[in-house]
Amino acid sequence: MKRILTGDRPTGKGHLGHYVGSWENRVKLQDEYECFFLIADLHTLTTALERTGNVAENVRDLVLDWLAVGIDPNKATIYLQSLIPEVTELFWIFACLVTVPRAQRIPTLKDVMRDLEIEEPSVGLLSYPILQAADVLMVRADLVPVGRDQESHIELLREIARRFNRLYGPVFPEAQSLTGRVPTLVGTDGQAKMSKSLNNTIFLSDPPDVVEQKVRGMYTDPKRLRATDPGTVEGNPVFIYHNAFNDNVDEVRDLEERYRTGRVGDVEVKRKLAAALNRFLDPIRERRAKFEAMPGLVDEIILAGTARARAEAQETLRLAKEAMRLPYGGV
Ligand code: ATP
Ligand code: MG
Repeated sequence: MKRILTGDRPTGKGHLGHYVGSWENRVKLQDEYECFFLIADLHTLTTALERTGNVAENVRDLVLDWLAVGIDPNKATIYLQSLIPEVTELFWIFACLVTVPRAQRIPTLKDVMRDLEIEEPSVGLLSYPILQAADVLMVRADLVPVGRDQESHIELLREIARRFNRLYGPVFPEAQSLTGRVPTLVGTDGQAKMSKSLNNTIFLSDPPDVVEQKVRGMYTDPKRLRATDPGTVEGNPVFIYHNAFNDNVDEVRDLEERYRTGRVGDVEVKRKLAAALNRFLDPIRERRAKFEAMPGLVDEIILAGTARARAEAQETLRLAKEAMRLPYGGV
């Protein structure tokens, strides 16, 4: 069975961008692939060094969100990165295969530095995608469902795998990325990416009234002043969300048509979007509440999954050291 590895940083609650970018694919593919879903807590150190005290709570929130969208711990292995020391060991080997200028060319590095106003990146931030390569290749995964922003990381991963395999022999697969049906979801403010650090998110666990309020404040066509003005649908976040989440396709087509011809007000378009989002989120919120009420569930899932993932990691590291002919490699 082919393998998937993907995951998220435990930096807060899951949002609509995570869902369409990656989570939906995970749920769909968990029957076809052997899946490993990683809680990347070591990766939070690259940007949240002062907030390590929040990680434990964020880990719990993340797992509850995963379960709420339909990730099934009986099918997929859910595990915590920091409990697998072999990953950081493999990271070191990989770090020696990547030049500094190559690591600096990763576009997300510039994006993160800009968004978080970081003047000089730490060696850790620079190495973010190398640690990610170690995560994926530790279980020798074939496919990595991620949002568009992560594609450049998977490209680097393939270079690392090729370089290692050429130097030492074929140990690692050249894993492919798989982006979701909306590779990058815009934020409620119209910025290119929905992201917690940009404060433009709708969380999967937001209550209905919060969803309504966020939708009311959404960015639309700035050139349209009155309901009778013809409006632009393309690239308009409200319509992007309608198309991504509204199950009533006829309603969306009708709103688009009336918007283009100046026959509908923003209030109606947004009211129908909030209703559609709440229809989509209701079952997710319900499942989340159910899992939240089960004491010990999250810890059990993480500990069982980590034991499984660690066995894979140990085997892969053994194969890598053996191929490299390190002293006692393969022991
Ligand atoms: P945030 O900035 O909100 O914390 P993030 O990008 O840091 O989000 P990660 O935990 O790093 O979130 O990424 C989780 C997964 O979700 C990645 O595969 C990422 O590509 C995807 N993702 C995150 N935001 C979006 C978005 N707006 N659209 C599509 N995919 C997204
Ligand atoms: Mg994040």
